[in-house]
Amino acid sequence: LFITLEGGDGAGKSTQAELLAGWLEERGREVVRTREPGGTTLGVELRKLLLHGGDVSPRAEALLYAADRAQHIATVVRPALERDAVVVQDRYIDSSLAYQGAGRVLSVEDVRRISEWASDGLWPQLTVLLDIDPGEGATRRVSRGGSDDRLEAEAIEFHRAVREGFLELAKQGPDRFLVIDATLSADEIHARILARTAALLPR
Ligand code: C5P
Repeated sequence: LFITLEGGDGAGKSTQAELLAGWLEERGREVVRTREPGGTTLGVELRKLLLHGGDVSPRAEALLYAADRAQHIATVVRPALERDAVVVQDRYIDSSLAYQGAGRVLSVEDVRRISEWASDGLWPQLTVLLDIDPGEGATRRVSRGGSDDRLEAEAIEFHRAVREGFLELAKQGPDRFLVIDATLSADEIHARILARTAALLPR
């Protein structure tokens, strides 16, 4: 079972991923908690370049995310799924579609093509979209001491376009997506994620 969490910065993806992983482990499942970018040794280097490497052109950026994804899917995610572990992952192709596609200058279709090529066509069974107003997300990130060079540099308009991009993806794929208002309590969000996850687990 492959589950991804998506949403803007400060939406609470890591908190929910941890809660979900804990619940699955209590049920005796092996869980691989991972993320993109940065889920492999190569990915950690790519993540540094992407988030703090200065000016990267849009196509180069999309290809670096794709390289991170190719390595991660081939060496971490597919092997885990093959041994029947549950993969709980922060960000995946939908982030590329929303950030590199909807948010920036590239077409969503181009980004989808290189992402699918990089992952060799692997899609999750469930994608949880934690939907948050970008202003609210930024406040939450700052209040918990997070720092992100990009968040400060990027205009709120960009983050609005990203949010709209995510919501559009969810509209196009209602069977795969579970959209949750990220301002709900962590317990309430967790409960909603569990309800959908439980339905996907073998009885
Ligand atoms: O959620 P995480 O802290 O890993 O994301 C770091 C940043 O990377 C995000 O705020 C976003 O700006 C950027 N990102 C991106 N495109 C992706 C994935 C992440 O622009 N495909």
